[in-house]
Amino acid sequence: MKYLSALLCICLLSISCNSNNVNSENQRSVTETEKPDYAIAIHGGAGTILKANMSDEKEQEYRLALNQALDIGESILKEGGSSLDAIEKTIHFMENSPLFNAGKGAVFTNAGKNELDASIMFGKDQNAGAVGGVTNVKNPISAARAVMEKSSHVLLTGIGAEQFAKEQNLEIVDPSYFYTQRRFESMEKAKARDVMTADEKHGTVGCVALDKNGNIAAGTSTGGMTNKKYNRIGDSPIIGAGTYADNATCAVSATGHGEYFIRYAVAHDIAARMAYGGKSLDEAAREVVMDKLVEKGGTGGVIAMDANGNISMPFNTEGMYRGFAKPGERAIAIYGLD
Ligand code: ASP
Repeated sequence: MKYLSALLCICLLSISCNSNNVNSENQRSVTETEKPDYAIAIHGGAGTILKANMSDEKEQEYRLALNQALDIGESILKEGGSSLDAIEKTIHFMENSPLFNAGKGAVFTNAGKNELDASIMFGKDQNAGAVGGVTNVKNPISAARAVMEKSSHVLLTGIGAEQFAKEQNLEIVDPSYFYTQRRFESMEKAKARDVMTADEKHGTVGCVALDKNGNIAAGTSTGGMTNKKYNRIGDSPIIGAGTYADNATCAVSATGHGEYFIRYAVAHDIAARMAYGGKSLDEAAREVVMDKLVEKGGTGGVIAMDANGNISMPFNTEGMYRGFAKPGERAIAIYGLD
């Protein structure tokens, strides 16, 4: 039943995301004239997000935040800004909100710390940057972008990444900045049980965008999993797992049980199915999230966009905070059927 409703929702959202096209068949042969000037999609994590467990007030808070995030990215793209700028600034906003498991709202590790991961990738040249396990960088997505643009590396971790962020004059905060009562209590509960509920496994924010120059990009930022141990790093800063972008295929940002997304190279698998299998964006994304991951037991979802501005947002959980905007179009959704 849960998969049926998720599937139905994907159909609904996929139809709305491609409303420029007459039907889903046309999605596979989108013409230049149908291509929007720009497009942006975001997620704020997937998981056991049920209307029954959400107050109207909380739901409005999430919807407002998702709309505000889209406003930021859309205004940059509308003005002709790059997909990378739109993604960085949109994710900043989500990182600064306590609502999402990234930046300010990051979950706690078993040792009572916040260790943040982020990555960004540009579809034009497939340049990429990422940071893992940083504890004092206010906006890890900017550190990831700095790694991409100002270093000869792709992934920096721990104190080295923090040192690099400082040298790049990024905002450094005391680790206590990331303290929120809600996330601290979740960690304490998870510790007491020593097992995580499905909800505690999920979080993360992400953004994919197409700019007026025709370049797509993807970015992802997360606090990872509640109660994580041993400096665990998830899929979010792993290029090809939690984030991927190539103008020739698609831009992807994932959210879900990171270990599965790493093992099945989820973001790259979607691009590979398009490149080698001739699949459309939506076919490729759904095959990976709704078939392969479900079969393997990996819960979560992705937001994916191709260079024609098509968007696909499949998820195999009850809900995923998500939204998209194109000229004259916008949608926000949380649950399986809205
Ligand atoms: N994928 C993230 C991780 O495993 C968590 C999430 O998206 O919920 O670190």
